[in-house]
Parts: sequence; C-alpha cells; structure tokens
Amino acid sequence: MKQRPTFPARMDSSVVAAKVKPLPSANLPQGLGMDSVAVRQRMVQKLAGLGLSDPRVLAAMGRVERHRFVDSALVNQAYEDTSLPIGLGQTISKPGVVSRMVELLCQGAVGKLGRVLEIGTGCGYQAAVLSEVATEVYTIERLRGLHEKARENLRYLRLAHVHLLLGDGMLGYAQGAPYAAIIAAAGGEAIPTAWTDQLAVGGRLVAPVAQHRVGGTTGTVAQALVVVNKTSQGLSQTILEAVHFVPLKSGLA
Ligand code: SAH
Repeated sequence: MKQRPTFPARMDSSVVAAKVKPLPSANLPQGLGMDSVAVRQRMVQKLAGLGLSDPRVLAAMGRVERHRFVDSALVNQAYEDTSLPIGLGQTISKPGVVSRMVELLCQGAVGKLGRVLEIGTGCGYQAAVLSEVATEVYTIERLRGLHEKARENLRYLRLAHVHLLLGDGMLGYAQGAPYAAIIAAAGGEAIPTAWTDQLAVGGRLVAPVAQHRVGGTTGTVAQALVVVNKTSQGLSQTILEAVHFVPLKSGLA
C-alpha cells in the first residue's frame, strides 16, 4: 500500500514533535566500534535460527547498532537476545521479540511499509529498526525523559522520516493517520479503539495485550501478542505467543 507522507503534521497541545538533528561525531558513543558489524551478524544468524526469515527484517536487524541505544555499562550485552533496562523503569525488548513483531508487521506487504505508528519509543531502538522497513515512522512516548533520550540516541542517524512525539500513545496520533501499520511496545488490557480507527484499510497492527485466564481459585493474567488486520470487511484478530511487556499507561509523565 502506498501512503503519501503529510509531515510536517498539524500539532495539538498534547503532542510535541522533535526534530532529529545531527550530533558532532566526537559525541558519539564509542561502544563496540567497528567490531559491532561481526557481532551483529552473529545475532542475525541466531535470529534466523529462531525462525526469522523476512529478508527486510534480517537486513534491518543487521544494520541498526543496538549498542548505541543502551547504557555504556550494558554495551557488552547489546547483541544478546535479552531485554535490557533503559531507565525510568522501562526496558528495551530483546532482539528476538523486536524482529518477530516487525516481521509480523511486514507480512503480506510488498516492499517497504508505508507510514508506521509505534507506541512506546523508549530508547528509540525499535524506531530505528522500523525506519529501515518503512517510508515514514511516527513514534510516540509518554515519558519525557525517554522521549529526550531517544532523540539523543537517534541524532547520529539523521533520519528525516522518523518523527519523535511526546504524548499519550493510547490516543494514537491522528495527524499522521491512516497508518499502514501500528506497533505497540507496551501492553494494555485491550487495544484502544483510536489505534484501529487510525489504521488504514489493508493495514495491520501488532501489540501485546493482556489475556485473562481463570485457574484454580485465582485468575492469572498473561500477555500475548495480538495481530489485528483491517480490511474493508472489518477487523480480524489473531492471538499468538505469550510475551512480557511493560504496561501501557495513559497520560504524560
Ligand atoms: N520500543 C522501545 C521499547 C520501550 S518499552 C525501545 O526500542 O526501546 C515501552 C515504552 O512504552 C516505555 O518507554 C513506556 O514509557 C512507553 N509507554 C507506555 N504507555 C505509553 C503510552 N500510553 N503512550 C506512549 N508510550 C507509552
């Protein structure tokens, strides 16, 4: 599906767009340096071994330098298949989960995705991965500290087609709609109707959603990945594997 980008979009008072500006190279995190290419290739091979097969996603995972998005003390773990803390009680998802979700998002699409909305920018890593597979990325974060951290982290990439927004992602971002794809990095009780409203016909949404199971005397709550397809006939939903994401919360902080 072809989407015509409309940025710069109209702003409302609850949403602030931040421009990604270049940073002098002296300020770049040192991290793993040139060696990271080989380390990343090993990570990509492991992801392929786990079943990742979409060449667009394999290439994106090979290109984006995950070590630049984590604290310097965690750089050595950047290419392990593990989630890592990014501050303010939040975590960057493990590469296996990021690549799985982006692959689900790309399924059925030919070439690049059009406009994509990500809820939960966090440190900006997944937004960078999405920027490799989509023509336009809108990513929204409710925590100002992380919104700013992502802006710093993404600066060196100079991605004019990635738009960082500070706002409540539960409301989506109507100014950029309709989206070819929507991806959430935080899990709620249900998929907000704003998201499905803002999804284009023919579009697809991937999000972790709470699943309630009654077991014994106490009910248990787990999360599962949910895929929603929007067609001219309406919405269809598929529930996939269990996942563990930070909670989707409303309002700014
Ligand atoms: N994609 C991120 C993962 C961040 S963790 C990365 O690559 O680093 C999920 C993020 O979702 C957290 O930063 C959390 O603050 C954010 N979040 C939770 N509820 C939100 C909401 N309603 N709107 C926007 N962001 C939200």
